[in-house]
Amino acid sequence: NNQQNTCGVVNNPKNRVKHIIGIMSGKGGVGKSTVTAILAVELKRRGFKVGIMDADITGPSIPRLFGINNQRATGDGTYIYPVKTSEGIDVMSMNLLMPQETQPVLWRGPMIGGAVQQFWTDVVWGELDFLLVDMPPGTGDVALTVMQSIPVTGLVMVSTPQSMVSMIVAKAVNMADKMGIKVLGVVENMTYITCPDCGKRIDIYGKNASQEAANKVGVKLLGELPMDKDLMELSDEGRVEKFEAFREEFKNISDSILGSI
Ligand code: ADP
Repeated sequence: NNQQNTCGVVNNPKNRVKHIIGIMSGKGGVGKSTVTAILAVELKRRGFKVGIMDADITGPSIPRLFGINNQRATGDGTYIYPVKTSEGIDVMSMNLLMPQETQPVLWRGPMIGGAVQQFWTDVVWGELDFLLVDMPPGTGDVALTVMQSIPVTGLVMVSTPQSMVSMIVAKAVNMADKMGIKVLGVVENMTYITCPDCGKRIDIYGKNASQEAANKVGVKLLGELPMDKDLMELSDEGRVEKFEAFREEFKNISDSILGSI
């Protein structure tokens, strides 16, 4: 039953995962992990079975967002079992395997690729509708190894307006194309702020800037997200599952993703 997929990675016979979606960014700090987490929450609220693989091995932040960073994954010698969040999202992260959260992972690319591959072959995800993969940032060696190690079916790019207009996103899109992985679109993060007094949207980088940049790169604009104080606070407190602000945006982003897979 150990079928090989197109990446040459052996599938775990215990896993039945319908869609594996990689969340990618041209560089770090643009909100890739945050978007991964909220997207997972939104899909879970819709009744899907959802898991998150934190493939950002050297900068794992998913467990902290869900407040499970003090828990540890369990194993039985053959398989490793993910940790469940309070709302029932399955999470696997290097952070859940290290003795201490603060310990750095001092590995080179191939070792990281090996670990990520094990997150697929040795972790019991069971039956999932969606496995979201929080990819390592950038278009370097590590991201490449991850793309080769996990049978990702589609990619969602996360970008800020600055990185959108630079060539970073175009580079990431080219990389996905070369690997034969479909780019579902781009989520632009921290595009605008909402005035706390009148609720008016203030486009920091000008109106339609995101759409124009997306057109230029040749990707679908899945949505724009504001810079939001509540989101930052909930993330810091490990309560991202309590997130309610700008849910409408995430509903639309999810609809777009569901429509294109
Ligand atoms: P990445 O995964 O790309 O490195 P993170 O998701 O860890 O980025 O986000 C980087 C920082 O920015 C975090 O402190 C996060 O809470 C904050 N952040 C991300 N998106 C937003 C947003 N829309 N509004 C406010 N803060 C945000």
